[in-house]
Amino acid sequence: SRPFTEVALFSVSSYACQRRTTLDNHNSNLTDALSLLAENAELSNEDGRGVAFRRAAALLKALPTQVISMSQLRGLPCLGEHSLRVIKDVLENGVSSEVESTKQSKRYKALKILTGIFGVGAKTADRWIREGIYNLEQLRDSGQTLNRAQKAGLEHYDDLNEPVTKAEADAIGEIVQKAVNSVLPGSEVALTGGFRRGKLTGHDVDFLITHPEEGKEVGLMPKVVAWLESQKTTRNSYLESKDGPARPASNMDRFERCFSIFKLTKRKEQETASHKIWRAVRVDLVVSPISQFAFAVLGWTGSKLFERELRRWAGHEKNMSLSSHALFDNTQNKYLRATSEEEIFAYLGLEYIPPSERNA
Ligand code: ATP
Ligand code: MN
Ligand code: MN
Repeated sequence: SRPFTEVALFSVSSYACQRRTTLDNHNSNLTDALSLLAENAELSNEDGRGVAFRRAAALLKALPTQVISMSQLRGLPCLGEHSLRVIKDVLENGVSSEVESTKQSKRYKALKILTGIFGVGAKTADRWIREGIYNLEQLRDSGQTLNRAQKAGLEHYDDLNEPVTKAEADAIGEIVQKAVNSVLPGSEVALTGGFRRGKLTGHDVDFLITHPEEGKEVGLMPKVVAWLESQKTTRNSYLESKDGPARPASNMDRFERCFSIFKLTKRKEQETASHKIWRAVRVDLVVSPISQFAFAVLGWTGSKLFERELRRWAGHEKNMSLSSHALFDNTQNKYLRATSEEEIFAYLGLEYIPPSERNA
């Protein structure tokens, strides 16, 4: 038996919203493996397994040092049997055999390629795979009917699968600001999503729009989109969107929103040999009334797992319901108003975690 001073034991909360998770990940060898299995589970409609892998990966992201032996993990929460098996494999062999075989599987490869198309989710990709479509060429040749978003997604496939940089996000931010202020002066635009958490790249750029006078924001989204569309011939404009500009239906929230594709003109030094002077970028726009703004900012800043854990904490530990719109206290049977994220954390009895430490 080993002397117990040999291993450093970590003490970590089981809720990601009680942990400070920066972008400084000491265990990316392990979290990459678990994230890939999470992604594969999500793409295969196995949400429970997906969450289990995500929670295990998030726990490892929060550890202050690199894990080199299984004994360091003793007593830690969030690590299920399956995740521990994967971790052990990576620690002992450098790679996980399950991850390697998943990566090489025909089905996983096809799901990745097909869901890489804007507007194509796991369900559609799965149907295509069952019809023998595994790649873009087979999709193009298949004669499948694509909706407008999917057509644009296919057309701009390479651009949209190229990570967005912070500089590009800032340039998009200026366009959005200009559009919003042209149609409703006094409006405010906030950067949310991964860039607000300090990420240097992202798969899209997320913005939340509001106006200090409650009600003024109603109907804003279609106007913003119309303004952007009217700029079609200019350097920067709007190309296409999923769901149309004002469709408020979502199982997650009821804001006016627009999951869109922007045309962003490259700066001189970014121009490539292909002489293409612009590129397509995914942009998410969401409009919130000022009374719900703090909840919307919190809900759209992420990470996705951090959000899920906040809601789990609220429900299980506080008998409250948290959404991107509001916080409801089921014990007092009333809504709790807030004008800042700090207030929301305080209602939840949680220490405030700034965006840069929500990278769970
Ligand atoms: P990336 O760099 O890959 O874009 P991200 O953290 O910005 O990473 P997004 O998918 O852009 O990821 O999501 C940002 C946040 O918006 C997430 O935390 C999620 O909670 C929220 N969000 C995304 N889609 C929806 C939706 N349909 N309804 C409500 N909230 C959503
Ligand atoms: Mn994002
Ligand atoms: Mn987004």
